[in-house]
Amino acid sequence: MSSRKETILKAAKRTAKQAHAAASKKVQKSRVSIGIDPHRHCSVCWKPIPLDSEPAICSSVECSTIFERREKSRRRFSFVMYLGIAIFVGMLGIQIFIGATG
Ligand SMILES: [Zn+2]
Repeated sequence: MSSRKETILKAAKRTAKQAHAAASKKVQKSRVSIGIDPHRHCSVCWKPIPLDSEPAICSSVECSTIFERREKSRRRFSFVMYLGIAIFVGMLGIQIFIGATG
């Protein structure tokens, strides 16, 4: 009984040690990558832009217009998709309801 407990404890300790090692490794890696100039890219023209730019586009008006249009169509698409799912679920519910009563 006690040996089993000990084994579990040992495993837990080992896991914690591994997690700690992985975490410290990650920190080291990110520290190294800071030297390689962190940046992101404009989602329209892929020009390098500052890391903190939000939304992820450059200062170009053309890019912001394209991005806005894309965003709008994306929103419309997700709305239509949710509407379709709602209709599907509603019809399924009606069918179950009809099946249960009749
Ligand atoms: Zn751009």
